[in-house]
Amino acid sequence: MRKIAVLGATGSIGVQTLDVVARHPDKFHVTALTAHSNANELFAYVRRFRPQAAGLVKETEIPEDLRFCEWFFGEDVNSRVLEAVKPDDALCAVVGIAGLPAVMTALKVCKRILLANKEALVTGGQLVMEEARKRNVPILPVDSEHSAIFQCLQGGVEPKGLILTASGGALRTWDKQAIENATVDQVLSHPTWRMGKKITVDCATMMNKGLEVIEAHYLFGMPEERISVVVHPQSIIHSLVEFVDGSMLAQMGCTDMRVPISYALGYPERIESGAKELDLLSMGALNFEKPDMDRFPCLALARGALREGAHAMITLNGANEEAVGAFIAGRIPFGAIAKIVERILNMTSFSRVSDVEAVYTIDRDARARAMREIGRFE
Ligand code: NAD
Ligand code: MG
Repeated sequence: MRKIAVLGATGSIGVQTLDVVARHPDKFHVTALTAHSNANELFAYVRRFRPQAAGLVKETEIPEDLRFCEWFFGEDVNSRVLEAVKPDDALCAVVGIAGLPAVMTALKVCKRILLANKEALVTGGQLVMEEARKRNVPILPVDSEHSAIFQCLQGGVEPKGLILTASGGALRTWDKQAIENATVDQVLSHPTWRMGKKITVDCATMMNKGLEVIEAHYLFGMPEERISVVVHPQSIIHSLVEFVDGSMLAQMGCTDMRVPISYALGYPERIESGAKELDLLSMGALNFEKPDMDRFPCLALARGALREGAHAMITLNGANEEAVGAFIAGRIPFGAIAKIVERILNMTSFSRVSDVEAVYTIDRDARARAMREIGRFE
């Protein structure tokens, strides 16, 4: 039995993880669950999975029947729950930089990290990977593209390059002017995946693919110039790996995150995920397009930040989190997200980042600057 902590249990990835886990009561035991503020949903999962510990960022009255488990509250809830329970695996599915302290703690107390939270690698990639190597803790990707690459690399041969596929998001075919003023509803109706709001907006700006280039750089130790991006609107091929002999391997499947989740949970075995088989005969044609950096400048901003270094990546992430939040709240137009991120990057002078404390300081600074820019729209 593997003891599993699910951090961000009430979100899109968290719920799908619990669905896979529930299919294998002989293999997994949920020992910890956390969420931000959706207490009633978390309570339902605590009732069902009966973990040893649970936590909410927002303090809430705990119902009588749920006092069998140890409760934690506050900003550092993920770390405190992990320290209390010391699970074998921590599946990190919180959203944003809140995942970084959780991953740093998981590296100290867990045997494996199953990582959905890409922002932890965008903001602390080098620190996280160094610590993981030092402690010999594997970081198994849950993000579908990185899971696809990880699956294609099981032969153990060094790849020549990585190719990330992108759906292109909700605005793939829109012209530049229309993109500028896309509404929240339009942006949140993703053509192929059902996900949390923040990542769905990131898909529409293509910042998500930029964050994933950074994620791939750290997970697979691949230089930025050997990670390419191709738009593939059907989201059937989840990513590809190129080898020196001219061969490419691709991983295919339905758009169901339970596939990469179950691969990480069961690794190195494959376990039943609940996902439908891909029906090749009804699939139709697969298309590939070059990403348009003019209509979707965030991909280029993220690549630029990766080449620049940690300070730039933390700044990009912090400004983006604030701008995406402001867009969802109706405070800025869609087109302002990329402009705000670019402006904050341009006004920041970058220095070396040597520890996690420095990451949080830079993040706070980027957010404060972004908030001032957001204020100009009101
Ligand atoms: P979501 O918004 O649906 O869920 C986020 C979850 O984290 C919720 O349970 C929320 O309550 C919780 N949470 C937020 N802040 C927290 C904190 N500080 N402490 C504890 N819990 C907290 O998001 P999602 O779509 O599930 O995405 C989660 C992460 O996985 C993101 O980093 C995203 O980029 C990544 N990811 C998601 C998908 C997907 O299909 N949804 C695919 C690939 C990668
Ligand atoms: Mg992805």
